Amino acid sequence: MTQVTPLTIVNVGYRSTNYWVVSAGTSRLLVDIGWPGTIGTMKANLKRMGVPLREIRYALATHYHIDHAGLAEELKKEGVPLLVLQVQVDAIPIMKTWTKPSDNYVEIRADGNVTIPFEESRQLLQQIGISGEILHTPGHSDDSISLLLDDGSVCTGDLPPEAYAFDNPVALGTWHMLRERGATRVYPAHGPIRPMDPAPTI
Ligand SMILES: [Zn+2]
Repeated sequence: MTQVTPLTIVNVGYRSTNYWVVSAGTSRLLVDIGWPGTIGTMKANLKRMGVPLREIRYALATHYHIDHAGLAEELKKEGVPLLVLQVQVDAIPIMKTWTKPSDNYVEIRADGNVTIPFEESRQLLQQIGISGEILHTPGHSDDSISLLLDDGSVCTGDLPPEAYAFDNPVALGTWHMLRERGATRVYPAHGPIRPMDPAPTI
């Protein structure tokens, strides 16, 4: 028998970027992982929102740009494993090229990462009490992924909103796929939570 704990999602973000903590009780997943050099701010925000760091089972970056994965290595040192999709592996070392020494970015090492294909995401999430899956959602970058929960909530990272993506067929295809898969509520990396746009009429 599977026990279902209702999921909650809170925002621990800062500097115009949302970092979502998805929780099944005290079992938690952090979606997007802070700017480089801001571990103090992240810890303070987690504390303020009542999220003990030790309860975060994995950290997941929607893609490897510095505002989304900048603290990944530091959180690993705090005991939070980094969950990586296979499609993201090659993007990780490139992140360093976008940082300056003054950013205090700690480079992500391969050891300690939990790397999986998309097909294994549902099972892994189920192990931490979260019903949903991780999907490949290109449109902002090729390594972009989204967390789609079975309640219809979807964390989409920087996927450009459908209404502004008329010249981005890859993003439009991604939104179509998310709608088909049952997404109803969008938790973007920037801006407020919003309902999915209605299906476009042709
Ligand atoms: Zn980005």
